[in-house]
Amino acid sequence: MASERTNRHSSQRLAARILVVDDEPRLASTLATLLRSCGYDATEAHGGRRACELIDTQRFDLALLDLRMPEVDGFAVMTHLENQQPACGTIVISGESSFTTVSRALRRGALDYIRKPFDPEDLVATVKGVADKQSLLKAHENIQGRLEKSEALHRYIVNSSPDIVFMLDADGRFCFINSKIESMLGYKPVELCGQHFRHILDDRDVARGIYALNAPDISADNPRTLEIRLKTRGSRRATRHFEVTAFPIDPQTWMHNGNTQGGGSGQNACYYGTARDVTERKEAEAFINFQAYHDLLTRLPNRALFKDRLELAITHAGRGSQKLAVMFLDLDRFKIINDTLGHAMGDRLLQAVTQRLESCLRKGDTLSRFGGDEFTLLLPSIHGHEDASQIARKLIKALKAPFLLGEHEVFVGVSIGIAIYPEAGSSMDQLIQNADIAMYHVKAKGKDSYRFFSESMSIDSTNRLNLERDLRLALKRNELRVFYQPQVCASTNRIMGLEALVRWQHPERGLLYPRDFLGLAEETQLISQLSEQVLDQACRDVGKWIRSGHRDLRLAVNLSPVEVEHPKFVETLMKRVKANRFPPGNLEIEITENVLMNDLDQISQKLRELADMDVRIAIDDFGTGYSSLNYLHRLPIHTLKVDQSFVKAIHSGVDDACIVNAIVAMAHGLKLEIVAEGVETESQLQYLRTLGCHQVQGFIYGPAQPATDISKLLAHTTVRTALSG
Ligand code: C2E
Ligand code: CA
Ligand code: CA
Repeated sequence: MASERTNRHSSQRLAARILVVDDEPRLASTLATLLRSCGYDATEAHGGRRACELIDTQRFDLALLDLRMPEVDGFAVMTHLENQQPACGTIVISGESSFTTVSRALRRGALDYIRKPFDPEDLVATVKGVADKQSLLKAHENIQGRLEKSEALHRYIVNSSPDIVFMLDADGRFCFINSKIESMLGYKPVELCGQHFRHILDDRDVARGIYALNAPDISADNPRTLEIRLKTRGSRRATRHFEVTAFPIDPQTWMHNGNTQGGGSGQNACYYGTARDVTERKEAEAFINFQAYHDLLTRLPNRALFKDRLELAITHAGRGSQKLAVMFLDLDRFKIINDTLGHAMGDRLLQAVTQRLESCLRKGDTLSRFGGDEFTLLLPSIHGHEDASQIARKLIKALKAPFLLGEHEVFVGVSIGIAIYPEAGSSMDQLIQNADIAMYHVKAKGKDSYRFFSESMSIDSTNRLNLERDLRLALKRNELRVFYQPQVCASTNRIMGLEALVRWQHPERGLLYPRDFLGLAEETQLISQLSEQVLDQACRDVGKWIRSGHRDLRLAVNLSPVEVEHPKFVETLMKRVKANRFPPGNLEIEITENVLMNDLDQISQKLRELADMDVRIAIDDFGTGYSSLNYLHRLPIHTLKVDQSFVKAIHSGVDDACIVNAIVAMAHGLKLEIVAEGVETESQLQYLRTLGCHQVQGFIYGPAQPATDISKLLAHTTVRTALSG
């Protein structure tokens, strides 16, 4: 009873299916019955052929195989079984005492053998031993397979994590790291294992990283998260931002599953951590931050950041009773370039200008783009005015050389106003405003220079604002007048030409002269409108006199450098001349030497175009500018106007009189006409006559007068007769 129960019990557990193969049916059936009585599931096969048929159709755990059989013997069945069911074990039954046959079978993979004739108890014991081993093996394989699957799953989970997963030992050395590290930072997991984690920290973050890990209170429930920069492999510079979370591993939870793949075994792990790449988020944040405080075109601090820094610098300087300087920079000629070459070129110019300006600065100085073509500069610690002057001179010089924009060579200058703390203001807004005011004074005085703010300027600036408003109105209400001053032939007293000089009939202040408003018109870009009105009026007036019989009467008009430098200068000028049907051959334009110095190539091109259309060109105030004699013969110039200062010097200062001699001699050599300006006395006239200078202009023949007075003058053939008449 007891043994039967054990057998049943074992059969349930084993449920082994056994194939019994013998060519003697009686023996096969005896064996099968015996095995069945022990609870096995036995199937008989009488002979090798039948065994092979059964192997093809049924599963077996074990085969009890007679070796010696006719036709298909035990070895042939073994071969077939190996091919069809390699998991099925074999016990061979051998009648032979020959050791070689049995050992051959064992070598071929048989698990055990039974000798005929067999003792039933021995046989059952042998079968049981093999069957048990078989099932154990299977169970093991099963577990192994599940383990491998589970491990593959975990590896998959760990390596497909969007984050870097790592483990550190007690010393902070990597003992496991997933393969994510390679795609994110370029390290192979194996090369990092055994390395201290500081190896991949950005130098700036090493201390922070180590401190965080060693903080006393961190645990799995209270992990430490910090943002840190990690270095990419092979490059000291390139870093990415990570959000790293790490905590010490609780040895209770961390059991010895130390077979994790990736890099390292994870043995000895004391810390577990993940690192999430937050570079894009950080960059986005940084960009938004940058955008709020910088000008994107030049990458300079913007107005807001400049004010911030200035505020800080003022507080600082105030505490240490130090000085600081605020500069207001405004580019000269930028607008013209931007208007004609387009905004893209304008942008490139601003970038190039920025570069040059920056090259002049020291660490700690803040250059900002204040808007348009305006820049502000903060020098946070200076000893005195001389420090600021030095920088200003450097900045001006840096912009002197031409800028190359595509095929265009352009020239910009810079006007700089300087306000020194504390004398030019104690608040941020005051300093900026006063630097701005000083800058306007530079513009008014001819640009490309620098000035310090002084109290008298701020009074000027209110006047200036009123005047600007008035001038705009004046242009609308036609308050400008054109007066004419005769240019007279000294030998015949005949009027050769008339110089148009602008006046402003101000409703309250009376008649204003160019010195009162011309500078302002240039700065505020009102000059082109002013010029247009003067030119229109002059063309109409002088055109009328020409048509009434004064065929050769010349009209001389003054042009500001600002206008001449404008790329569309020739076009706009000729448009007005044509619109008024004025004969171009009777027109002379007066420009100053300084205009020529800015960009000789472009200017000479323009002058040539004008000369080709018969327009005459005069150099005004000759001798006072950057006199460069070598341009004279390269340019289509017709007239030199000797400056008043040289004429005044006749009979008073010998040296300057010599200059008149030299100019006249030179003009003769170059076959240029000469007009002497500012002739007031008979003796000056006499002197000029003897020099051979025949055209004269000045109070001696009368000041500039309104058209109606000129009409009367012209009615007489010569000025002198008119004046005496
Ligand atoms: P400028 O071209 O050198 O003109 C000569 C200036 O000397 C004129 O002053 C004239 O009135 C003055 N003048 C003439 N004869 C004598 C004299 O015998 N003695 C003295 N002391 N002065 C004399 P104004 O009209 O005040 O013009 C000043 C400057 O303004 C001009 O100098 C010219 O550069 C500029 N200007 C005048 N009208 C215009 C204009 O329509 N457009 C432009 N762009 N500039 C103009
Ligand atoms: Ca003139
Ligand atoms: Ca002049």
